[in-house]
Amino acid sequence: MTAALADQARLDLPGHWPAALGPRALAELDAQTPFLAVDLSTVADRYAAFTAAIPGISPFYAMKCNAAQDVLGTLAALGSSFEVASIGELRMLQEIGVDPAEVLYSNPVKAPHAIAAARAAGLWRFSFDSEGELYKLAQHAPGAAVYIRLRVDDSTSLFPLSRKFGAEAHEARALMLLARELGLEPYGVTFHVGSQCATTSAWRQAIAAAGALMAALQEDGVHLRMLDLGGGFPSRYVERVPPLDQIAGTINAALEELLPYRPALLAAEPGRHLVAESAVMVTTVLGREVRAGENWLYVDVGAYNGMMETQQTVQQWRFPLWTSRTDHALVPHVPFTVTGPSCDSSDTMFYGVNLPATIEVGDRLYIGSAGAYTLSYASHFNGFAPPEPVFVGGPAGTNATVQRIPSQPHLPSSPAAPSPADTPSHLGTPSHLGTASLAATASR
Ligand code: PLP
Repeated sequence: MTAALADQARLDLPGHWPAALGPRALAELDAQTPFLAVDLSTVADRYAAFTAAIPGISPFYAMKCNAAQDVLGTLAALGSSFEVASIGELRMLQEIGVDPAEVLYSNPVKAPHAIAAARAAGLWRFSFDSEGELYKLAQHAPGAAVYIRLRVDDSTSLFPLSRKFGAEAHEARALMLLARELGLEPYGVTFHVGSQCATTSAWRQAIAAAGALMAALQEDGVHLRMLDLGGGFPSRYVERVPPLDQIAGTINAALEELLPYRPALLAAEPGRHLVAESAVMVTTVLGREVRAGENWLYVDVGAYNGMMETQQTVQQWRFPLWTSRTDHALVPHVPFTVTGPSCDSSDTMFYGVNLPATIEVGDRLYIGSAGAYTLSYASHFNGFAPPEPVFVGGPAGTNATVQRIPSQPHLPSSPAAPSPADTPSHLGTPSHLGTASLAATASR
């Protein structure tokens, strides 16, 4: 056991803290708070564990979760592909040399100009969940490959998504056939069981729904090339979640039992699972007051400059906390309300959390498992700058530096159409659907 791990074992830390980010290691980081201390070797380990747990899986990292360039570069160097929600995210990937042809555009509702720009850059796979989106895609990315997002049960996730997105199972077959009529390739099926999903059965049900669609489409002569398991794979915070091997066991069995055939590409879009546990938000106590009998702790990070997720659930959401106090584990703990630096009371993050009674101004408060949906949510509200990431380790086996993948010289600098050589062969517009008929259908 390394000294850092032994240190942590003695302390009995809540949640999960990377060895490189234990309280002793954090105390040695000399940077201006607030900052996000990120251990890139944890990202690498999580990626390796994920690919090992589900044989044949191709991860497309959901970069909305944490788009720090070093995180993207680490994952790209390990062979990850990416899922984007916007043209802005695609541009960030292009900056580090990722080929858009390797990227999935999984936002089911996109701006027409974003579709056209992504297509021009070489991205060829787009998700959709409605007729309206299909007409848009047929017009702005003629001949593209499309994958349908199914609405699935996400009631056991902490952050459900299925009210906003997802085609109903009974509409999905007709939508895929319409895609074919419009000259698009009915390429695949996807779903999202909701972020921080807490039950393995959610994946089984979703795979069953995807399998039923695949079987129905087979009758229409449509063979799907991709099944995309989406995101939702949980991370360890304070509440118990099923471990990855349990989730993977359910998924692997469901893939065997519930699909009529195995599509060529088995994709997933993990976000939180790969990065949450890799990072600790390091904050400084700005003030401590008793107000109407309640202990208030004011720190330099709040909901608006990094911890927005604390606003998104009711009472259930807790992050593992620790402090820089050397007496942290030795003195009595008392309940605190922990709030951010702004003048707005709604940047309060935690209620009734137990912290050392001795905590005082200048001490640091460490928020564990803070690598996901923190930097990417942070605003400048009230003039407080978002936390900066500080990287403490490279991927395992490297020299504690980040491997960046080299820029690709052939990336288009202007949104010109890709050359025929760059275009996947199936992307030609079918002859029975010329531009005129596409324009006509698109304007319906
Ligand atoms: N894929 C899509 C389309 C998403 O919208 C999201 C998150 O919102 C993800 C993947 C990642 O989800 P998670 O971070 O729960 O893995």
